[in-house]
Amino acid sequence: MNQSPVADYRLDIAQLLKQGLSDRAVMRQLRCGRAAVIETRNALGIIRKPREGSGHKMAASAEDAFWANIQAVGDGHFVWAGYVENGTPRLQYGGREGRRRCSPSRVAFRIRAGRNPEGPVAPTCGRGDCVAPDHLDEVKA
Ligand SMILES: [Zn+2]
Repeated sequence: MNQSPVADYRLDIAQLLKQGLSDRAVMRQLRCGRAAVIETRNALGIIRKPREGSGHKMAASAEDAFWANIQAVGDGHFVWAGYVENGTPRLQYGGREGRRRCSPSRVAFRIRAGRNPEGPVAPTCGRGDCVAPDHLDEVKA
């Protein structure tokens, strides 16, 4: 893994993150995408504050769980930093009652395309473990 130093984050995003604004608040204020916020957050090493209260936190939606478990590795690539089951990345979400698991790649595709993929999803950027929404597409038969 050659990890090039990430220098091209957005200063306006960085400023708001340092003020303690949430991802959502930054996106709303600057009208920027969540990916840009995540990249800036990772570049600065700002960790999202864990919610207090319940011992085990579980994102309510698949999309939230996706953004909470990825890591920017430069050049727009994201890798999965969440739960892995038998070598397969698994995204977990839902409450204690209705816990669900699915593939991070499929959720990433849905984030970009706004619909569920038809069939398997694979990275198009040449990086096999990439889960960046913009780098994934359906595998055409
Ligand atoms: Zn990629």
